[in-house]
Amino acid sequence: MADKKESLNLKNLSFSDSVSYYFDKAAPFTGAPQGLLDQIKTCNSIYKMNFPVKYGNEVRVIEAYRVQHSHHRMPTKGGIRYSLQVDQDEVMALAALMTYKCALVDVPFGGAKGGIKISPRQTPPDILENITRRYTTELVKKNFIGPGIDVPAPDYGTGEREMAWILDTYVTLRPGEIDGYGCVTGKPIALNGIHGRTEATGRGVVYALNEVCSYKDDMKDLGLETGLEGKRVIVQGLGNVGYHTARIISQYGAKVIAIAEADGAVYDENGIDVDDLYKYRQEKKSVKGYGKGKVIADSASALELPCDILIPAALEKQITDKNAARIKAKIIAEAANGPVTPAAEQILLKKGVMIIPDIYINAGGVTVSYFEWLKNLSHVRFGRMQKRWEEKHQTDFIKLVEDLTGKTVAKSRIDSLIHGADEIDLVNSGLEDTMIEAYRDIREFKKRRKSEIDIRTAAFAVAINKIKNSYYAMGIFP
Ligand code: NAD
Repeated sequence: MADKKESLNLKNLSFSDSVSYYFDKAAPFTGAPQGLLDQIKTCNSIYKMNFPVKYGNEVRVIEAYRVQHSHHRMPTKGGIRYSLQVDQDEVMALAALMTYKCALVDVPFGGAKGGIKISPRQTPPDILENITRRYTTELVKKNFIGPGIDVPAPDYGTGEREMAWILDTYVTLRPGEIDGYGCVTGKPIALNGIHGRTEATGRGVVYALNEVCSYKDDMKDLGLETGLEGKRVIVQGLGNVGYHTARIISQYGAKVIAIAEADGAVYDENGIDVDDLYKYRQEKKSVKGYGKGKVIADSASALELPCDILIPAALEKQITDKNAARIKAKIIAEAANGPVTPAAEQILLKKGVMIIPDIYINAGGVTVSYFEWLKNLSHVRFGRMQKRWEEKHQTDFIKLVEDLTGKTVAKSRIDSLIHGADEIDLVNSGLEDTMIEAYRDIREFKKRRKSEIDIRTAAFAVAINKIKNSYYAMGIFP
């Protein structure tokens, strides 16, 4: 009866209430005092704005938000979303997730998020540019943006182009600010962006899954072999996160058997050529009519096909109490933020599904954003100072080995041995290390509590503990 009551309540939770629910579930495992937990959980600053924008001969009022969830570390950091679903509750939920995500992967920022209530696909680019520039101006006016204050990044419906407009507006309004380029991340390379940021979230998802699937005991419990090779994968969303996840996981030998988009899904048991489908959709603006595999009109039903790993990479609340019982995946990797509702999670955990939570698995984006911010503050590309030195040093070493052994190392091996690290090598290496270490922290925490807690609860508890330590270090809480 109590179980039924709880699941009834869980069905009615808003997105931000869901995040609070996960927080409350993890809090008892942290030993933090209630006052400190209240401080960590609360949203520090909420800025709601309305501004007028010209659409041809008419003027429309645009609703937009920036929420800074936590200032325990500065600057705050989080993406900007363009979607008709944007509202204060959604932005608050996403900002809170950013706080826990940053803490979990040791990115020294507080969490934030922004949103503009518009349809990016139905708004002409010149009007999108006006809206983005006006939004940035509003943030500057209220001191809600800056390399040491709050640093936006791309999210649903935004990308490099929007980040370039934000940067240009910021540096125009704040001329001469030496670190001004660090006011936003996810910028184009030509505007001091960083190699690897565009695909970072998707690449991080794959590094994380590679680690998750490397534990024999865990895989045995699910009836799976270790490794990504041969795993059957379904991805929802062929945008930034979904496309790169699907593309990179295929390179690891996994088979992407279905990709679900808003207007239909493509299913092919032999494996989808991800780049081919992506190009098709870019051209036709739809997956409908794709000639290979089978197109399923009811996109949501594709999530219910049998597979090993299901990767929702579109939006929140995609797996709810309505469809959870029909999900057949053994692992769900939350590449999107909040795709599984608490009520659905309850059903899935009972079925023995392993859920890898958003605050961990999609943290690759903010991790590489952090690297980009560091690059902007240091004003030098990663690898620039040491690449040639490393190559010379390695060449000398191989020469020494050849001299001592009297043997010659093959040219093809020399090339790979002496290669000094480029920016992309360092970014991907830092990202892989981050995803591996964070999962080990979560897994270790969970193991210490035996079967008492699930992976999400362990991830939240690890994150809360790290934030708790920041407050203790400030001496605010005894
Ligand atoms: P995006 O706008 O690039 O892509 C989203 C895709 O999802 C679009 O192609 C859209 O058509 C599709 N979509 C929308 N509704 C759908 C539905 N009902 N079924 C199937 N597909 C649908 O956005 P993105 O940047 O890839 O973000 C996706 C998710 O990942 C969001 O939850 C976002 O918060 C999260 N995320 C993004 C980043 C990042 O770096 N971009 C980082 C962390 C988390």
